[in-house]
Amino acid sequence: MTSRPLKSGTMKKTTGMDRAKTRNWRPATQAVRGGTWRSEHGETSEALFLTSGYTYDDAQTVADRFAGDAQGMTYSRLQNPTTGMLEERIALLEGAEACRAQASGMAAMTASLLCQLSAGDHCVAARAAFGSCRWLVDHLLPRFGIETTVIDSADTAAWEAAIKPNTKVFFFETPANPTLDVVDLKAVCAIAKAHGVTSVVDNAFAGPALQRPMEFGADVVAYSATKIMDGQGRVLAGAICSSEQWINEVLMPFQRNTGPTISAFNAWVVHKGLETLSLRSHQQSRNAVALGEFMEHRVVKAGGEMRHPGLASHPAHELARAQMDATGPIFAFDVGSRARAFAILDALELIDISNNIGDTRSLMCHPASTTHAGMEADARTEMGVTEGLLRINVGLEDIADLTEDMDRALSAAGV
Ligand SMILES: *Cc1c(COP(=O)(O)O)cnc(C)c1O
Repeated sequence: MTSRPLKSGTMKKTTGMDRAKTRNWRPATQAVRGGTWRSEHGETSEALFLTSGYTYDDAQTVADRFAGDAQGMTYSRLQNPTTGMLEERIALLEGAEACRAQASGMAAMTASLLCQLSAGDHCVAARAAFGSCRWLVDHLLPRFGIETTVIDSADTAAWEAAIKPNTKVFFFETPANPTLDVVDLKAVCAIAKAHGVTSVVDNAFAGPALQRPMEFGADVVAYSATKIMDGQGRVLAGAICSSEQWINEVLMPFQRNTGPTISAFNAWVVHKGLETLSLRSHQQSRNAVALGEFMEHRVVKAGGEMRHPGLASHPAHELARAQMDATGPIFAFDVGSRARAFAILDALELIDISNNIGDTRSLMCHPASTTHAGMEADARTEMGVTEGLLRINVGLEDIADLTEDMDRALSAAGV
């Protein structure tokens, strides 16, 4: 070890491979090796750089970096090697030119909207959305003079009909949290393009191993990386992917000056989580389909409803299969009343009551009293978050244990 072990800016990206080559790697390889920058120590596992600042070999070096004439780190609000590795790996998995990591999913959603919208602009958004995403649309944007319209996102024609001369952004999730509405990515992104509107897709429910919206024409993909990307329920994280130009010209002025930066520690955790993203995403999807098939008949017979894009009964089952590699770990079902929903939750012995998703553990919650409790009751009902709705994230447990637990819980509630 020398006293100055690494001359600033000398980390090797992806072990000496040139980056054009790494782009050609297939997704399973990207997940394990994409975005690996090794230091002079040759560490196998990517290093965790817990540093807020950087030092420079001479005064001109730092002046050049601040002037934008030289590459290199200047301050961890703006760049950090560990965060940089995460951003490179996510961009490669997404098939995006560029990515910027964010402190949380909501930091990513807020930044991807506020960085490009100004007073007088109009944003069309999906009615069915995560509670805080709806808060941005219903409360935050209007406070800054940005007009918003919410529509039924599964109705492709409604997107076109909502466009006005000042429409600048389409904002939606697919599948949506927690109603599992599916948006026709190709059709809706094409409508956006034809009208010069920027499409912003919240891809938290699928993740890049199962759905890559940019392949269908999305301009910006925003993530809660807290969910399936970390995948083990450890840290909050977010990400925004887009073209190099959009990231540099539209997002970065907002990002560098407002600071929704991820902690390097959290970036490191997510970066390691991505190595198993594809395996987890596919196995959890298989478990979710198996559990859904096991319980569908009983839920329907009891007068309830399944909302599971992996089942043939979902109105957009074919569309989901066409635009996703697998339908994901999450589904919802309606058992008619809050009392019955609570009875099911309280009878679970294996599956945890938890409002998190994407975890390797199976987790179940009642959205109307948790993730969507902050919304007005009318708006909640209108978007399909009914009093009897339960949402489940299906984990990696043995499917026989999961079906036994669900069987017991449904029986306890008379379903
Ligand atoms: C969880 C979630 C978010 C918010 O992400 P955080 O990491 O919790 O801030 C945004 N959108 C969707 C669809 C989510 O499920």
